[in-house]
This record gives sequence, structure tokens and C-alpha cells, in this order.
Amino acid sequence: MLNKKTIDDIDVKGKVVLLRCDFNVPMKDGVITDDTRIEAALPTIAKLSGDGGRVMICSHLGKPKGKVDESLTLAPVAERLSELLGQEVLFLKDNEVVGAHAKWFKYNMTEGQVVLLENTRFRPEEEKNEDSFSQELASLADVYVNDAFGTAHRAHCSTVGVTKFVKETAVGYLMEKELNFLGNAVDDPVRPFAAVLGGSKVSSKISVIDNLLEKVDILIIGGGMAYTFVKSQGGHVGLSLVEDDYLQYARDMIQKAKEKNVKLLFTKDIVVAPEISDDAPFQTVDVMNIPDDLMGVDIGEKTIEMFSEALKEAKTVIWNGPMGVFEVPNFSKGTKAIAAAIADLDAITIIGGGDSAAAAIQLGFSDKMTHISTGGGASLEFLEGKELPGVTAIADK
Ligand code: AMP
Repeated sequence: MLNKKTIDDIDVKGKVVLLRCDFNVPMKDGVITDDTRIEAALPTIAKLSGDGGRVMICSHLGKPKGKVDESLTLAPVAERLSELLGQEVLFLKDNEVVGAHAKWFKYNMTEGQVVLLENTRFRPEEEKNEDSFSQELASLADVYVNDAFGTAHRAHCSTVGVTKFVKETAVGYLMEKELNFLGNAVDDPVRPFAAVLGGSKVSSKISVIDNLLEKVDILIIGGGMAYTFVKSQGGHVGLSLVEDDYLQYARDMIQKAKEKNVKLLFTKDIVVAPEISDDAPFQTVDVMNIPDDLMGVDIGEKTIEMFSEALKEAKTVIWNGPMGVFEVPNFSKGTKAIAAAIADLDAITIIGGGDSAAAAIQLGFSDKMTHISTGGGASLEFLEGKELPGVTAIADK
């Protein structure tokens, strides 16, 4: 269980609470296209406001790289948040984030009021975690609450630096929920414990594979990652994505799985195409014999069956990364089938953010999963066994 202070451990009545949320939402032409992250922050905001806190929210959005970029203003988020919260959330348009409006509101907010500051990444100091901006943020607040799980793996002013200058700190409900689900699943899983990994590269998930092999009973590897494993075993992978620098690593992991008695499964048959395009002709072949001019783009029927069958044993499942190039409808079948197989299980099922979370939500499986993480990068670092700086910085219970 989490040993950090949570918002249930602090009294916020009448205090100014600086709340860090992760409102890094996808936008198209100034319109929010997915408000999952805003929805996920509502319980914390409602609790702090309901308890009489004066709630000042901050967040980043996109990558403005320390400059004001009006296409990345948080104004549309304030509007959507007001609708979802059922309470007006004023947007404080200070391009320097802690500006005249924020300073005025610090002294003039009413209890229960909620306001939103401008994009913290408009400030060049933010991503460098420089004290000057951390102190400015801290000067607004009596209490600091971090509920931004999606950004907890970054040590920035608004996630880490600020905690040096505010006396009272705590995590919010979303952070608590994410850490409890991921933490319990990894450190104290109901067994058998299976992890399903996919996505493009072995290199980006090296530490995850390494760490999970210490903990899981079943490890399933699909997606573009699988071909490096296949090639390391003498398979012919054609034009498929392979990282030749990681062939020995793949062999080592196969050996480690044997030593640890972990059932390691990777792709058996594979959907191949000459290119990544929905117009490309495709067929299914054995993964050890992919023709020279074709590349693997999705797992085949036999693999879907094998993975689904293996998952039926599991009592805890963590899934991170698509099984194929799921952005192309013709190559999304494997990812959808695995999402459906996981949704069907009578097990603790955790989707580790990013593409797999988007796939599970789009397919309408949200209610059938135990937990869908709101943070791709953060949940990955968690699965690597790393500490999240945004969590470490919060006071212990
Ligand atoms: P990651 O960010 O590492 O989780 O990778 C996600 C990306 O992996 C998605 O954009 C998928 O299109 C890509 N991907 C999955 N399977 C394959 C594959 N067989 N070949 C190339 N890319 C893939």
C-alpha cells in the first residue's frame, strides 16, 4: 500500500491548494478530442473543493518548449472542466503562469472555488526544474497536491521542484489509485500473473522485460518487438522491424525466462504485407519464414488463439503495447482480439496507458478492465521498477 500522504490525510479548509493535474489531452484545431484525463481528475477536484479548499490547478499541455504558444493554451480545458465538474472553473490567463491574475486570486478566492492556471510549459524553467519557477508556484500555495500520474516520471518544477518550497504535500485520488493498482499488481500479484507486451521496439522496453521476468509467470510478446526475438532464434523476418543490436539481449531474456520458469510466448504466425498501408495486400505466414519482400504487421489467428488460451489461466494481467500496426484498420485485428480476450477474463486486468489504453477505450472495454492507466510513460517506468520522482517528492504518511 502507498506510504505517501493523500488528500484524506490533510485538512484543506480555507487553504489555497495548488493542484497539479495531467491535462495533457489530445486536441485537434483547439478542440479536445479525448477528455479521459479531465474526467479522471474530477474526484480529487471535487473533494478539495467540497472540503472548502481554494483550488488552483496547474498542468502542462503539449510541448511548447518554454515559449508561449497560443495553440497550446489551457483555456479549452477550463471550459471542458467546468462542464464536467458542474461548477465554473475560471481560467487565469497569465502567460507567465504565476502572473497578476494568479497572485490576485491567491488572496481573493472563495472557499470551494476552482481556477486553472496557464500551461506550465510556457515557462522555460519548468522542464529544467529550476528553483525560480518552483518558488513562484509555491508562493501561491498553502498546500501542494500532485494528481498528475501521467507526468509523475518527470522531475519538473510543477511536479517536483515546487514540493521543496511548500510545507504540506499530498497525492490526489487518481495518483493513489494508479499507484495502488500498478503497485499491487507488480509487487503482490494474485497468481498466475501474466504480462502482455507489444509496441514497436525492444530497446524501449528492455528494462520492462528484464524487471517483469523477475515477477511474472507468463510473458507474452507481440507487436514489432517480437521479430527481434524471432530473428535471435534463427527465424527469417524479411522486412520486419528488427533491432540487430538487441539479438543477444533477446537470447539472454529467453534464457532468463527458462531459469525463472516463466512461460515466454511470442508470435507464431504473422500477418505480412509489403508496406504499412490499408491498401496493401496481406496474407498470413509462419513467423520463422517471412518472405524477403514482406514485413510483419500483426499477429495471426493461431497466435491470437495461443495468447488468448494462455491468458485464460491468469489471475492478474498487465498489458502494454499494441500487437500490430493497429492504426491501420487491416492490421488492427490482433490488438482488438487481445483486448477482447483480456476484457473477458475473470482476473485483475490492468492496461498500462498509451496505445493499449486508447485501444481498450475505443473498443468499449473500459468497464470490463479493472484499471486503465492514464499514464503511458509513467506506467512503463513503474513496470521497469523505477521510482517516480513526482511521487517520491511527496511527504510520507
Ligand atoms: P510503442 O510506442 O513502443 O508502444 O509502439 C507503438 C507502436 O508500435 C504503434 O504505433 C504500432 O503501430 C507499432 N507497431 C506494433 N506492431 C508493429 C509491427 N509489427 N511493425 C511495426 N510497428 C509496429
